[in-house]
Amino acid sequence: MAALIQTLGDLRRQSGTNVRPVKQEIRDNLVRKLQAGDPLFPGIIGYDDTVVPQLINAILSRHNFILLGLRGQAKSRILRGLVDLLDEQVPVVPGCEIHDHPLAPLCAGCRARVAAEGDALPIGWLPREERFVEKLATPDVTIADMVGDIDPIKAAQAGLNLSDELTMHYGLLPRANRGIFAVNELPDLAGKIQVGLFNILQEGDVQIKGYPIRLRLDVMLVFTANPEDYTARGKIITPLKDRIGSEIRTHYPATRHTALAITRQEAWTDRTGGLKVSIPDYVREVVEEVAFQARADRKIDKRSGVSQRLPISTLELVVSNAERRALQNGEGMVVPRVTDVFAALPSITGKFELEYEGELRGAEQVARDLIRSAVGSVFTGMFEGTDTRTVVEWFDLGGSLPLSDGTPAAEVVSLTGGVQGLRELAEHVGVPPGAPAPVVASAIDFVLEGLYAQKKISRSEERGYAANEAAPRRPARREEPTLDEEIRMPTGKKKYYN
Ligand SMILES: [Zn+2]
Repeated sequence: MAALIQTLGDLRRQSGTNVRPVKQEIRDNLVRKLQAGDPLFPGIIGYDDTVVPQLINAILSRHNFILLGLRGQAKSRILRGLVDLLDEQVPVVPGCEIHDHPLAPLCAGCRARVAAEGDALPIGWLPREERFVEKLATPDVTIADMVGDIDPIKAAQAGLNLSDELTMHYGLLPRANRGIFAVNELPDLAGKIQVGLFNILQEGDVQIKGYPIRLRLDVMLVFTANPEDYTARGKIITPLKDRIGSEIRTHYPATRHTALAITRQEAWTDRTGGLKVSIPDYVREVVEEVAFQARADRKIDKRSGVSQRLPISTLELVVSNAERRALQNGEGMVVPRVTDVFAALPSITGKFELEYEGELRGAEQVARDLIRSAVGSVFTGMFEGTDTRTVVEWFDLGGSLPLSDGTPAAEVVSLTGGVQGLRELAEHVGVPPGAPAPVVASAIDFVLEGLYAQKKISRSEERGYAANEAAPRRPARREEPTLDEEIRMPTGKKKYYN
């Protein structure tokens, strides 16, 4: 169609004077996709029964809407996904900064061109990717950024009757004309700017530096906000709130299964040009469980949440630590171990805000506690009802194993060869007979870390802290009976299970 329509005359013959507003366009395309059973919001996982139906309803209602949720709940991704619901391209007056429709131009320049060139006016085509404008709200965003600015001298020269004839420097909102304008973290926008947004939405008029500007824009407005900020009194001006048709709550993955699928999709684990990477399921589950534990931990601030980016970047670091080990030891494949999760602390500690109690303990210690209880939870789930006594007895009789996250796989296998029952437990997680050493070593590491998390065996670092472990059992901590003082285990240092 686009190829055939090159002038305003063609366009008039094809569509008459019909100018379809953007929300109607998005609605029409959604209706078509629903009827055809096409996938909606590809890449958004775990929202099929919750968020997606509400989104569909909002779009069918031609609403402006807001997504309320904590960080890392795919809010921005959903908004960007709306682009798929736009027409592939739409006709515009070429060169117009606000993408004027050739049949209904807003700006004086375009109106003059239409008047002068008539049906001969050439038509440009705007692809949908260029019809999405996004802005992160911050308190220092100005009306000039959002709506635009005028030159007061030019304005004065033009006299009193300026309004739409004025040459103005357009802000983001007019540049989103005929498209989608997304404002992230809406409550961070100053009240004055919210008023400006509202005026544009409601009246199509706004005052800039005291001069009235008429801008009857055609925009779908979408927002995101932290729920507490949004509902806090005085954060959002009431008239703007009234114009937001739907409030849609997002959430974290409800199950570990969903979370695993998201991380599998997002994390960069197939290392381009590197060794083959094979991530055991229990490693993936431990990484996911760290986020679940963190979201439930009262040492961590619930209002800011724990992003799904935590497991995503953690898994990437886990793979990298295993990759480093494989490369340095000349191993043929990369098989992450549970111990590698401790090497991923740099991607964990920055992903949550601590409550006072957590601050006392320190971010790193909180993260170590989380990993340990995550290992415990996954291990217990897999080994429920499995007899681990033979292995525990070996340690009780004085056995110890010096291992580190850098120990080559073959060495892990040979060092642990004398521990009766350990290999059998390792096979319990699904290691096939004859599996390569890195796979076996990882399973052994999981069993040892699991027994350690269950406090059936202890672990200490080569230097220092060993006395703590030898000391008689201290009374359980009042509030955290499951967590002893975690032994510092910087990556690469040897640790002993005993
Ligand atoms: Zn224009």
